[in-house]
Amino acid sequence: MKLTSSVHVVGGGRFGFGISGALDCHVYLLNGGDELALIDPGLGMAGDFDRILDNIRADGLDPRRIRKLILTHYHCDHIGAAAEAHKRLDVEVYASALAAPVVRTGDERAVALDVAKRAGFYPADFTLPPCPVDHEVHEGDVIRVGDLALTAYDTPGHCDAHLSFHITGADRAYLLGADLVFWGGRILLQTIHDCRIDAYAQSVFKVEKLAFDALLPGHLQISLSGGKQHIDLAAAAFRRLGVPPNLI
Ligand SMILES: [Zn+2]
Repeated sequence: MKLTSSVHVVGGGRFGFGISGALDCHVYLLNGGDELALIDPGLGMAGDFDRILDNIRADGLDPRRIRKLILTHYHCDHIGAAAEAHKRLDVEVYASALAAPVVRTGDERAVALDVAKRAGFYPADFTLPPCPVDHEVHEGDVIRVGDLALTAYDTPGHCDAHLSFHITGADRAYLLGADLVFWGGRILLQTIHDCRIDAYAQSVFKVEKLAFDALLPGHLQISLSGGKQHIDLAAAAFRRLGVPPNLI
């Protein structure tokens, strides 16, 4: 599904557009002109990645032109399909320096898969396939996707190894916020080992300083204009020493 000349949504489950696996996050494809990049390939239950590839082709794009697979954070609804994507596409994999060792080993406890399964979020027989990581991303790094520039920001809080990307060089400026902030200024706190409210507030204050039009979250509504207002709402709640509304 083409959102803009630079951004397509090519996957998403029941908290999105229902165009791939039920538990998949929004799967974004960035079009930088002479190069494509896939962001967070979803959970990767059997057959689901084929649906994502079909969606890319239906948008008139050739998956063989995807050169980069960029992971925002290590939750399984975002990276479960990374190993399959790496196997089937000619991509180099980018993940934060903190996430990389976990992605490489498929460490279930580090990604809170064990508690998420017990809570019923994922099928009991789901396992996280290890995926190679070619590039460890640090704050301030800039990843080029054709004409697009993705500047990385460490945004822990939802989990420790969470990156957001400020995307420039496109038709408009974007914040690829993944699971940082959602429509209406909502956030996603969970009772898992590396969810931290104080870090969450600092991360929201950090991206609040950026200029952007569009907010690309990992789930729910997408804002192509006025996206900053959702960050501002969350920041205002934190500034009152309160907590923004939570998704769950
Ligand atoms: Zn998450």
